[in-house]
Amino acid sequence: MKRNNIIFLTVCVLVISIFYAGFSNAADKGRNYYEQTGQVLWDIQTEEKVIALTFDDGPDPRYTPEILDLLEKYDAKATFFVLGRSAEKYPKIIERAYDEGHELANHTYSHPFKAKGHKLEEELRKTNEIIRGITGFAPVLFRPVGGIYTDEMINTAQKNGFKVVIWSWHLDTQDWKSPGVRRIVRKVLNGTTPGDVILFHDGGGNRTQTIKALEQILPVLQKQGYKFVTISELMGDISPRIKK
Ligand SMILES: [Zn+2]
Repeated sequence: MKRNNIIFLTVCVLVISIFYAGFSNAADKGRNYYEQTGQVLWDIQTEEKVIALTFDDGPDPRYTPEILDLLEKYDAKATFFVLGRSAEKYPKIIERAYDEGHELANHTYSHPFKAKGHKLEEELRKTNEIIRGITGFAPVLFRPVGGIYTDEMINTAQKNGFKVVIWSWHLDTQDWKSPGVRRIVRKVLNGTTPGDVILFHDGGGNRTQTIKALEQILPVLQKQGYKFVTISELMGDISPRIKK
């Protein structure tokens, strides 16, 4: 009887681990795999003091222009992962960001979590069309909503000409939760190393803390010798711009 129980338990554990192994493989081949194929970027290895500031969920009529002013003051270029529906509403802000040398990137049209297949293609296509209509530039980078992806989503993105961009795991500022200016500042200043990709949000809620934090972060990092570049520049591709 006891032996049967042990056998039964062993079989259960085996079945569960096989299921999980299969499931996680189906959902995500992992960072190593995708860094080797070049389909996904988290950050890069470099000795050069370059970092990429990234902003999700904009443009926002109040906060994005304030962020653009700050970036200009510190000669910083950033990457904006914009929502198509907001770009549609605020084309002037998109135009300004582009004209000032920032990189525009795709963060879907309506911010759906885990959209895949045709739905994801539609979200990507619509957003790129809007951005291209405003600037003449069609984004080549896609950041999944919440940074949550599956193998299928990555393949869909690639099939449609996009590279998937996440962020440095140690530099998610969680600014969307309004954790306090000090916390955001500390996270960035304690964590930043060359080649990092930092995650901020310029839309989707009150971003006062993000702006206050940037006012402190930018001068310090600049003094430390950091250069703020776009994601395409970080990857060594300096010609992502197609003129109108
Ligand atoms: Zn988002």
